[in-house]
Amino acid sequence: MTSKLLCAAFILAALTLSITFSLQPDQQKVLLVSFDGFRWDYLYRVPTPHFHYVMKYGVHVKQVTNIFITKTYPNHYTLVTGLFAENHGIVANDMFDPILNKSFSLDTMNIYDSEFWEEATPIWITNQKAGHTSGAAMWPGTDVKIHESFPTHYMLYNESVSFEERVAKIIEWFTSKEPINLGLLYWEDPDDMGHHLGPDSPLMGPVISDIDNKLGYLIQMLKKANLWNTLNLIITSDHGMTQCSEERVIELDQYLDKEHYLLIDQSPVAAILPKEGKFDEVYEALAHAHPNMTVYKKEEIPERWHYKYNTRVQPIIAVADEGWYILQNKSEGLMLGNHGYDNALAEMHPIFLAHGPAFRKNFTKAAMNATDLYPLLCHLLGIPALPHNGSLSSVQDLLRPTAPRTVTHTQSPPPHHGSGKPGEHEQESNAYFIGVSLGSIIVIVFFITFFKHLIRSQIPALPDMQAEIAQPLLQA
Ligand SMILES: [Zn+2]
Repeated sequence: MTSKLLCAAFILAALTLSITFSLQPDQQKVLLVSFDGFRWDYLYRVPTPHFHYVMKYGVHVKQVTNIFITKTYPNHYTLVTGLFAENHGIVANDMFDPILNKSFSLDTMNIYDSEFWEEATPIWITNQKAGHTSGAAMWPGTDVKIHESFPTHYMLYNESVSFEERVAKIIEWFTSKEPINLGLLYWEDPDDMGHHLGPDSPLMGPVISDIDNKLGYLIQMLKKANLWNTLNLIITSDHGMTQCSEERVIELDQYLDKEHYLLIDQSPVAAILPKEGKFDEVYEALAHAHPNMTVYKKEEIPERWHYKYNTRVQPIIAVADEGWYILQNKSEGLMLGNHGYDNALAEMHPIFLAHGPAFRKNFTKAAMNATDLYPLLCHLLGIPALPHNGSLSSVQDLLRPTAPRTVTHTQSPPPHHGSGKPGEHEQESNAYFIGVSLGSIIVIVFFITFFKHLIRSQIPALPDMQAEIAQPLLQA
């Protein structure tokens, strides 16, 4: 009976120990990779053996709902803040802030004004405040000073820097004397070629194959650096891509007098700032102008887009149906592929795969939100998550069952614009340390009990042992 009890105690103690310490500090490394514009179904378009290798030995989420608008900068900022566009403030690639009286434009790379980024705090800053170091290879926003900080290591954005050079930097930072625990790696394709060729083009096949080879190169380099089994690799993207056509163009000049408004952002979500006293005129002229364009007054924007409560969202937005293009006029030219449309559309959705000590193997999950990545990252890094719009509990099944599950709440209270309360999520990391301490105490108590019983049970056998030892001495 006693031995059974002891056996149970031992198993319980071993289990507690393994659960508590299953994610060792050297396993809390995360490399977040974004292949811009990698639509979810590109994985099946041509053979993608390296992506499938990650899926087989890691996890795969089939449907990732990104945020509206489904553009590059808004979504990349969501991935590292967990916030909707109206909350993090990067509401488009091209913006005008009427309070700051300043513009932001990806087209001209006029994106370095800190004030546009400071409605949120990206994960690298929180990571560094927690005493860790981060490294970023061209991830959007990582070469901008935000809240007086840069990532510990970063590269100035330069699209001509090769993928291999970016990977080399990431590996260097992860293997240095003071290794980073968070790496962010960005690559411009297949977005660039998707815009140029259109996603339906057969020429997209080789583009996707090339990305698969790049992933293969990254895996090879991680293995060579002995990082493959200790680092948590997350591969995702910001949005998908849909086919456009010269047959599907909406020209604003056909409906509006150019003198009556400023066009802040174009297709597929036209951001329109009417000039003083011209709001009604502009709205009326546009409201029923085209059957494939829906026009909203700012206050009428659907709640599900979480795209209303920010001064950078213009008084009128016009949203094109999938595959349609909004232009001032046709002289501007269009791209054969585009994104930015309703985030409920499947073709706007990106990929999500992960591999590493924290993740399950060969596990497929049906769906997640892009906002859920941020609390997952914070959990893996063991750092406090700031208020966000995601939910760790809805993605926790991606993690190995033995990984510490320390979080009890399901969803962060959605922060409203400018009302974030840093600190609410510190309980997540505190809970981890409480778990570690409690686990250690339980283990120590069980081992003391175990050894006490062991010693006691061995005492009656001592006289016999002494006799055996004594005998040869007597013979001598
Ligand atoms: Zn993009």
